[in-house]
Amino acid sequence: MRVFAVAEIRLGELDPVSVELLNLANSVKGDGKSEAVVIGKDVGSFAEELAKYADVVWKIEDDSLENYNPELYADVLLQLFEKEKPDLILFPNSSRGAELAPLVASKLNAPIATDVVGVDVKDGIKVSRYIFQGKLMVDIMLKKAECYVLTVRQGVFKEGEETNGEIVDAGIKPKVTPRREFVGIIEPEVGEVDISQADIIVSVGRGIEDASNIELAEELAKLLGGVVAGSRPVIDNGWLPKDRQVGISGKTVKPKLYLALGISGAFQHVMGMKDSELIIAINKDPEAPIFGVAHYGVVGDLFEIVPVLIEKLQKIKG
Ligand SMILES: Cc1cc2nc3c(=O)[nH]c(=O)nc-3n(C[C@H](O)[C@H](O)[C@H](O)COP(=O)(O)OP(=O)(O)OC[C@H]3O[C@@H](n4cnc5c(N)ncnc54)[C@H](O)[C@@H]3O)c2cc1C
Repeated sequence: MRVFAVAEIRLGELDPVSVELLNLANSVKGDGKSEAVVIGKDVGSFAEELAKYADVVWKIEDDSLENYNPELYADVLLQLFEKEKPDLILFPNSSRGAELAPLVASKLNAPIATDVVGVDVKDGIKVSRYIFQGKLMVDIMLKKAECYVLTVRQGVFKEGEETNGEIVDAGIKPKVTPRREFVGIIEPEVGEVDISQADIIVSVGRGIEDASNIELAEELAKLLGGVVAGSRPVIDNGWLPKDRQVGISGKTVKPKLYLALGISGAFQHVMGMKDSELIIAINKDPEAPIFGVAHYGVVGDLFEIVPVLIEKLQKIKG
């Protein structure tokens, strides 16, 4: 299969989800190829990075493509896809991917599935995705077609092999005059921490009780070399910014260590962290559902346990 992955450049940086799409592409391509597409004004360095994970990287460059414009981006993608005839096209399940994927799928008359977390290509294309706010996972068999379009959930396909692909200038320029023009980027208030990429996460729940106690988690996270995240009530209360929320209406994370402090383990939260390599939960309720997914559980008061942990780590670190 020829599997195309549409890379995403955001604020001058290659979004790591682009590599995750290629990990998926490499795992399903069979004896075909994984092919990245990168669009922008001057994308040479991004193409080089992508070539470490793709068999082929298609560069589409033009001054008008410097900033994202759905009409221009869809136009150049369609020009490439109509020429190269991919079997499967992957977009990130980002706001941009959610806009481009249906545009492309409708023009190519391709079946589309969104926010997929699993792909099986044995007899056609079967995808796994969550429904009913993450309560159920379903497998969906897509109608047989020449080409399929998927948007892929971030943080799911983090592991993959490295390759050494070739970079090809697609020689494609936009042919349409867009009706929309780029005005500017409004950055979110706090965006310096991307919890979906963190190896160590200290996550706090309602059990942390108050914004002033977040400091305790921050201190522990600092000593462990990690970042602080939270459950939805913590974000709803304004104790942490929205981009730190773990769960179905927040981010999916897969760190090496997920330390859950005062989190009950509601399924909406668990869906976002259950694939972490090591989960340690501290909760004073022995019946808390979080212990069902934790590898290690400590039944106790986090306000007694965390200061001891901090003290021990400080001693170890000298
Ligand atoms: C549509 C929808 C989407 C949602 N999306 C998300 C989402 O993305 N992410 C998310 O997290 N939630 C989400 N929720 C909310 C979810 O259902 C739960 O309400 C939420 O996860 C509970 O958060 P919590 O565990 O912090 O709080 P609680 O359920 O109140 O649990 C607090 C826990 O802290 C423990 N505790 C209290 N004090 C201490 C202490 N001193 N020491 C140790 N333990 C202590 C308690 O025993 C308890 O288990 C969503 C809900 C809906 C309806």
